[in-house]
Amino acid sequence: MLYVVVSALLLGGSSAYAPGVSAGRAAVSMRSSALSMAERTPLMAGNWKMNLLLPEAIALAKDVAAAAAKSPKVDVAVCVPYPYLVPVAEALKGSKVGLGAQDAFWETAGAYTAAVSTGMLKSVGSKYVLAGHSERRAVFGDSDADINKKVLKIIAEGLTCILCVGELKEERESGETFNVCDKQLTAGLKGVSAEMMTQIVIAYEPVWAIGTGLTATPEIAQETHAYIRSWFVENYSQKVADAVIIQYGGSVNAGNVDKLMACPDIDGALVGGASLKIDAFGPIIAFKPL
Ligand code: PEP
Repeated sequence: MLYVVVSALLLGGSSAYAPGVSAGRAAVSMRSSALSMAERTPLMAGNWKMNLLLPEAIALAKDVAAAAAKSPKVDVAVCVPYPYLVPVAEALKGSKVGLGAQDAFWETAGAYTAAVSTGMLKSVGSKYVLAGHSERRAVFGDSDADINKKVLKIIAEGLTCILCVGELKEERESGETFNVCDKQLTAGLKGVSAEMMTQIVIAYEPVWAIGTGLTATPEIAQETHAYIRSWFVENYSQKVADAVIIQYGGSVNAGNVDKLMACPDIDGALVGGASLKIDAFGPIIAFKPL
């Protein structure tokens, strides 16, 4: 009941796109972290997807490195196309920007044409790997079971996995948001222990907000982030819930990042379009919570 009232108030007061009436019946807890965001280091990660040519990628990496140097309290990463991992690693040398890949296969080696292993990614200096991005789910058919195998392999390699979860527009509109997050977290993290959770970052990315220019309002994003953090309390522990970094993703830009980052359970952003130009990604790295 409380949830419905809160949701109605938030939706009524929102200015950004705010589809649906309810995030879902799994709304068991609106408890947020006992720690404030100030005690977790925010992570701003760019997801370059299938964009840029090599000279542009190198120039952008250098610009990101310079921007990151001005924000000592923020972790920064770029998840780049495979062919650019080596040259971007070189461009980032000496900077604090973490190199990331956008996917990995779960097998170690062998006859898997076009696949890239976690060992390969590590050998070229990657620190982060995305798993379960909605475009991998929708375009390439990655199932929750596939994503779980990738998550476990990324962790076993000693890398940090950014596990993406989030609901479709229809799922939000039918009140299934929390159930979708529950299902994707439960399946994606199967076999992941509390100790292994130090190698997991969660990116909550409502699919209707990715690449559409439709950002969730800070209130709507915070509501689901609080649910996800409460999910970790229920399924792991308060300690794990307090420590886990939960990024928001979905049309984050210089104009909305400060309000999003003021939310207590939003610990950073996974950024697609706005990570492709330093004029857009620089202010995201240099966010100032409102
Ligand atoms: C993404 O690629 O994860 C993403 C959130 O993209 P965009 O910022 O363009 O919505």
